[in-house]
This record gives sequence, C-alpha cells and structure tokens, in this order.
Amino acid sequence: MDFSQFDNWRKIRDYEHEKSPDDTIDMVFPIYRHNYDASGFNYEGYYTNYLFPIINVDNGTRRITRWAFCAPTRINERVHFEIAAHEFGHAWGLPHNNAGGLWTLMGHRYPNVSPFMNSFERERLGWMLFTDVTENNTNVTISDFGTNAVAYRVRIDGDEVYLLENHQCGSPYDEVNKYAPDLTQGYCGEGLYILYLSEFTNRLKVQAADGKWNWSNPYWRFNDWGSSPTDSVPVYKRGLPNRSSGLFDKEKIPHTKGGSDFIYAWLDEETRGEKGLAERHKGIGNSFWSYDGYNVFYHWSNPPAKSTIGVYVTGEDFNGNIIATIYTSTPEDAPPARPYLVKLENYSEGTNQGIKLTWSANQEPDTAGYEVFRQTNGGTINKISGSSLVTDTTWVDWGEVMTDSSLTNYTYYVKAVDNTNQRSNLSNGRSTDVEHVRQMADKLAASQPETPIS
Ligand SMILES: [Zn+2]
Repeated sequence: MDFSQFDNWRKIRDYEHEKSPDDTIDMVFPIYRHNYDASGFNYEGYYTNYLFPIINVDNGTRRITRWAFCAPTRINERVHFEIAAHEFGHAWGLPHNNAGGLWTLMGHRYPNVSPFMNSFERERLGWMLFTDVTENNTNVTISDFGTNAVAYRVRIDGDEVYLLENHQCGSPYDEVNKYAPDLTQGYCGEGLYILYLSEFTNRLKVQAADGKWNWSNPYWRFNDWGSSPTDSVPVYKRGLPNRSSGLFDKEKIPHTKGGSDFIYAWLDEETRGEKGLAERHKGIGNSFWSYDGYNVFYHWSNPPAKSTIGVYVTGEDFNGNIIATIYTSTPEDAPPARPYLVKLENYSEGTNQGIKLTWSANQEPDTAGYEVFRQTNGGTINKISGSSLVTDTTWVDWGEVMTDSSLTNYTYYVKAVDNTNQRSNLSNGRSTDVEHVRQMADKLAASQPETPIS
C-alpha cells in the first residue's frame, strides 16, 4: 500500500495547517472485518499522541505517529461515524466538552445530548465566523444554525461569552433536544439556544431556558440498568425556582448519599407520579427561548444572565428565523420575564371559598404588578383579575373550588407587567384537575411514608 496519498498537510499549530507533505500521514481510517472478539473488551476508538510507537511505512520514507482503533460493532452502531469524527476533532486540537445536555463533537455521548458540532467547535476549525454583538441590536434575524452555520457571540466580560444558536432542526443530525417528549410528533424543541463559554477553560455550558431550581432526593429506586439487585438510583424532585444557587436539570444534582448524579428518575412536579429511568439531562423539550415561551434572558430572569447582557425574542418568521433584540446594556428595556405559577390550593375565609394562586415574585426592579388569566376546559384564555394590577404574589378566584367530581377544569396563568406597561408572556399553566390529584397524592404519601432503598 502506498501511503503517500495520505500525506498532504503539514501541521503548524492547532487549527493551522498548510498544504504540503511532511512525511507524516495526515489521517487514515482503515476499516476491516474480522471475527469480533467477544472478550467484553469493547474498544470505542480513541486517539493518542503518545503511548504507542511510531509505525514506519513506505519503506521508511513516511510514518504514522498516532493511531487509534474502534470495535467494528461500534462503527455499525454509530451511523454518523461520530467516533471517527471525534478523533478527527482531537487531531485538529479541539478540547473535550462533557457538560450535561450539550451538543458537541467532543463529548462522550453521555452526558451530552448528541455529537452535533456546536458553534464553538465549528468556529475553532475555521468553518464559520461568529457574528459579534458589541452594542444593543434590535431586529436581529438569526437563521437556523444547523443549515446555515450562523451563530451570534456576545461578550460578557474578559474571556466569558454567550453563544446564540437557533436550532430549527433543519439538519437531520441536529438532535439538540433529542429526548423532547413530543419527538414522535416531529418536534425537536425548535428555538434559540444559549451557550455559556469560558474562553479561558474552553468549557461550554447550556443555559437552559427553563431555569435553575432547588432539588431534593426524597427516596431511591431500583436501577433498571443496574448489574446487581441492590443497585439503586436517586429519585429527584424539583422544588422552587432558585436563580442564584439552583441547578439546571442538565446538571449533576446532589443526593442523600453524599455524591451527585445526573437525573434519571424524578417525581413529576404536576402529578407527583414517578417518571422512570429517562435521561432528563438530555433535555425535556423546553430548554430554548422562543417568541411565545421563555422569551427573555437577562439579569432578572431564571436563569439569570451575567452582566448587562440581554436577549429578547420578539418574533419568528415562516422560514424558522428567530427575530431578537440583543442587549449589551439596558436590558431592562425588555418586557418582564414570564412568572412561575407555584401552586393552586383551595382557600376559604369565613363562608367564602375560592382557589388561591401563588406565584414567584418577578425580580425586575420596574415590576408594576401582575394579571391573572383563566382557561376553561381548554378554551380561550381570559383575564380575570380586573382592570387594576395585582400587586401581591397571590390571588383568589372566589366562588371556585377544586374537587374530585368537578366537571370544569380550569387552567390558570399569570403575566407580569412593568411600569411602562410592557407585559410578559404567560406563565406556566396550572390546571385544577391535575393540582387536585397532586394534592391528594401528597396527603397519601404523608400518611404512608415511602421506604427508601439503601
Ligand atoms: Zn476524545
């Protein structure tokens, strides 16, 4: 075999090569078939620039200085050749990035969401340029990252930046929200994704739009993937939003045995039903910003942006372009972040009964108040709090009560309003039938404490 055909490039430094032979093979991926060694020693393919001796080829005129291998069964499993591509990434100088829920060539699938290359990796290889935002910029049209390789970069301070990628899943390889619950309907979580990058460590982290939360670990359950009957995994439960010290659902969460782990099992916040083993750190479908969902990212939102950076999604066109205002200063000009409706509960004062709503207070210093909305049996959503703003974070819908037998299902929402009359998007909804079931389940759980698996 003549290896000269694989010697075309000379490496100057990481990310920089010139087209001329240097008697060192650039890269070859030989693929061969043999009887698979069933010893249980499954090579996944790796890259090394030490450990192994130089192999001389072409009668000693050329050499192979680094080599790696990959079990043939794995090549068949990974139809995107992601392992081969990953090893290329090493040869080109890209660093590993193993943040939960991150799409990256340079992860290890676990805990990353997919091997789809992110904007940091593409830019490092010279395959795209960032569009830098250095001053407030209105009506920015951000097209699909997967098909157009367009991403915006906003500098926070020093060596910290936010990277903005619009994922409309135009590329079949774009599995940014691979485990979104509605994937069967062709929905992959289309919207604006924000990555935090430290240029000092080259570490990326997904800033999930659904925010940071308090988590607890009320009990443990059997691990369906475990190798012994005593294997167990922590069941996590989401508490209240916590902008300052909470954790994303894509992060490792501390558990009661002193360590921490990614979320495989959790108690559903709505029904208190246990969700079995599923890789929630890969995203549950609402990690993105969009026109009608989470539309504001700034210092007062959950998650909070650093410094005076702000992003406000103002629209989306029929081609899947996201229209946004990007702030480098004065992000308070954007409307309020959507509030979080914490709970509904039956409430009475004397003989008056009602359903009491409680929500988390908005953090914007220019918050003027709130409006309450109600939807009946999935119909239109109507404002029910009257013409003046609610200035508290609770409100009672008098004359209504949650019962087992009610034929009417109300879903409640809240909006925040600022002192220039700008309104937030609707909060999360809470429905009376689900809330009632949840509260009954809580009462049952309190009377029959669950036995933890040790
Ligand atoms: Zn690697």
